[in-house]
Amino acid sequence: PKWVYSFGGGHADGSAADKDRLGGKGAHLAEMSRIGLPVPPGFTIATDMCAAYYENGRKLPDALRPMVDEALVQMASYTGAHFGDVEHPLLVSVRSGARASMPGMMDTVLNLGLNDETVEGLARRTGERRFAYDTYRRFIQMYADVVLGVDHGLFEDILENYKALKGYELDPELQAEDWIEIVARFKSLVEKELGLRFPQSLRDQLWGAIAAVFGSWQNARAIAYRRLHDIPDDWGTAVTVQTMVFGNKGDNSATGVVFTRNPSTGENELFGEFLLNAQGEDVVAGLRTPQPLTKQASAANGNGKVSLEEAMPEAFAKLKHNCAALERHFRDLQDIEFTIEAGELFMLQTRAGKRSTQAALKIAVDMAGEGIITQEEAVMRIDPAHLDQLLHPTLDPNADMTVLAKGLPASPGAASGEIVFDADEAVHLKSQGHTVILARIETSPEDVQGMHAAAGILTTRGGMTSHAAVVARGMGRPCVAGVAAAHIDLERETLEASGVVLRKGDIVTIDGSSGKIIKGRVTMRQPDLSPDFATLMEWADGLRRMEVRANADTPADAGMHRDFGAEGIGLCRTEHMFFQDNRIVAMREMILAETKEARRAALAELLPEQRQDFMALFKIMKGLPVTIRLFDPPLHEFLPHEEDAIADVAEAMGVEIARLSRRIAVLSEFNPMLGQRGARLLVSYPEIVDMQARAIFEAAIESGKELHDRVRPEIMVPLVATKRELDLIKERIAETARAVEKERETTLAFQVGSMVELPRACLVAGEIAESAEFFSFGTNDLTQTTFGLSRDDAGRFLGEYADKGIINHDPFMTLDAAVGELMEIGVERGRAVRPDLKIGICGEHGGDPETIGFCEKIGLTYVSCSPYRVPVARLAAAQAAV
Ligand code: ADP
Ligand code: MG
Ligand code: MG
Repeated sequence: PKWVYSFGGGHADGSAADKDRLGGKGAHLAEMSRIGLPVPPGFTIATDMCAAYYENGRKLPDALRPMVDEALVQMASYTGAHFGDVEHPLLVSVRSGARASMPGMMDTVLNLGLNDETVEGLARRTGERRFAYDTYRRFIQMYADVVLGVDHGLFEDILENYKALKGYELDPELQAEDWIEIVARFKSLVEKELGLRFPQSLRDQLWGAIAAVFGSWQNARAIAYRRLHDIPDDWGTAVTVQTMVFGNKGDNSATGVVFTRNPSTGENELFGEFLLNAQGEDVVAGLRTPQPLTKQASAANGNGKVSLEEAMPEAFAKLKHNCAALERHFRDLQDIEFTIEAGELFMLQTRAGKRSTQAALKIAVDMAGEGIITQEEAVMRIDPAHLDQLLHPTLDPNADMTVLAKGLPASPGAASGEIVFDADEAVHLKSQGHTVILARIETSPEDVQGMHAAAGILTTRGGMTSHAAVVARGMGRPCVAGVAAAHIDLERETLEASGVVLRKGDIVTIDGSSGKIIKGRVTMRQPDLSPDFATLMEWADGLRRMEVRANADTPADAGMHRDFGAEGIGLCRTEHMFFQDNRIVAMREMILAETKEARRAALAELLPEQRQDFMALFKIMKGLPVTIRLFDPPLHEFLPHEEDAIADVAEAMGVEIARLSRRIAVLSEFNPMLGQRGARLLVSYPEIVDMQARAIFEAAIESGKELHDRVRPEIMVPLVATKRELDLIKERIAETARAVEKERETTLAFQVGSMVELPRACLVAGEIAESAEFFSFGTNDLTQTTFGLSRDDAGRFLGEYADKGIINHDPFMTLDAAVGELMEIGVERGRAVRPDLKIGICGEHGGDPETIGFCEKIGLTYVSCSPYRVPVARLAAAQAAV
């Protein structure tokens, strides 16, 4: 097999297409060489050798030797320097480089090829003893550290002590004799530490370094980085051996890093820094403050430091030219390493640059404008998941902060405010103009008003799909959930974490993007949607097939979603409307009523309120589709549990507390989520259907008049398992429609559809489609019922399941494949009966880019998600359609 790929002198065995085998660094060095950029010649040993190295018991196979020897000879042909030649020594770097960039995680050895003889040769040849010995000491330290395992701190101590003794402050003050002395001390340190001489055989050095760099694939840092970024362990690293060029050869030499555009703002300007008379590692080590590249940057923030543009105008002009060439060639922002040796520029690395989301947007839109990429490619370049960052305030990364604990980043954005522990209190304080953060052990629907009033929410229990997380995301409130390391005492109204106690009213900051909770106030950056955002969204809208709707429970939510460009409401959960104001009492009366008449009376109180909400919703939506889901809560969410609340309801109903308590006991269920809810409740209590249908129809007529158009509500029945359930409810709705049409002397346009959120409904979708005029997959419940798993309890063990490899993602965040298969069956069987069946998804998954890709594949009509996710969904739907 071919293991060794040479590059240099305008040629290369490999190219950018060989990233898998040559690693990103090796492949791009080959490519740069091919397109004629000045790249020091070298060769790359392919990533397969990494596996071979480990299989061979962490040893390099002998078969590699002749291949490397041959490549070294080829390198010599470009430069005239030979590896091991005392008079004209070749020095090399030995560099790591995997398929995916793992910056700084693996090892590199520079200046290899020096021993006591060749260092003298180098000094004679260059006429620079000081440079030669400076380079030798760098090599000994690095080789001893990386290959021999001697702590580099020991070398630094020697150097520091020496400088102190001689009264030197900076390295450039040291003369040749000083470095010669340092080299001697370094070598004896190695002898003392290891009991053997620093290796003088250049072959041994080279093999040692190549093996060590392959070995660094399995160092703890690299392993941890791969876990974090989902990089497979079996990819392995390549090793590149490359001719050294020297940025430390005097004041006409330098080394630096350049981004072809500003990676934080996206501005089209060279961005980077350099160090005079230094080697690459010095920039990273941060021992000296680097200088800016451009005159402009130097004027703006260079503190009077001379720019490369001014210091070396010729080399700078070449660099600028090469940057433009690389950007056009790779058609993306490049992050580049360069070195200038005695005025001559060399390119040492190029890769796609990491960038902020804001910069990503600007660069994609600009590059499409410059004709470097197409609009379609621009749309593909943006990670939908990152758009979230743009839509919420974020912590100023330069701010000082005391992090108290970390929880789950449940809903993005950051917020500061007074900490409160009670939802009503949050509402009260908000009405007095305070900004509050609501802290709860966990939240329930009774807290929803308080959550709405709060600027942010934090819980100490619960996962990414806990009530707090789901509701907060829907509202666009930042939320940190499940901060297990914090303790809330609801009695005392305190939160304790990291030994700090926050009392009610103390200022706390939460960051729902990172999960941090922080003491006190932190400066924030406000979201600032650039025109680029609008442009990219417009391009995305032109590409996508699926509609994007929003889930909105209240008129306020609906107003917000329109700003984000949703094309309708895919889910309006009517029960959330009942937690407002005093409606909850009427609602409880309705649920607890013992007779039809009593229930009707309570419902009659709710009717005008519902009608008003729907009218507001229809008006905001201006004729766009609105899907309203009939009543679907597990009843326990509505039953009063505290004495005060029970007394209130008893009074309103005119019954005794004891009697009401008995009724509550009768109604309570063992598994409310699987109990009498959704269609089951509506079948048993059809009066609820009557009231809700009437409210919807009357609102449609009223707001239709104002809009000079007909409003066509889509009425959706939750938790349907059989056609017959749907039929009974549909008939009730039709009866109400007929009655309202007669009363108002008008005709109504509406549809009745079914939620598909039970495995059974997926399987009998054909039957259900005979009655249902549309489907909407409720994937939260469908996931729960497919796994037989309660999402409110799953947080306890899903973490362990992920650790043990039982699941590889939270099925409540990204759709599980089996749940997807049920959906596919539902789509297929539903459309077999009703070919033009409109089908949507309205679970949490509707805002997840990966799930959206799947929805495109199975031909859904639309996805519906929380308002803040709408831009994410628009982009993801476009990418899925391309
Ligand atoms: P990393 O992946 O950690 O950046 P690199 O292999 O890129 O490691 O090397 C580390 C530093 O050494 C970089 O600054 C690089 O530019 C410099 N370097 C690597 N090879 C050479 C070389 N042949 N000549 C000069 N500098 C080099
Ligand atoms: Mg590098
Ligand atoms: Mg449901």
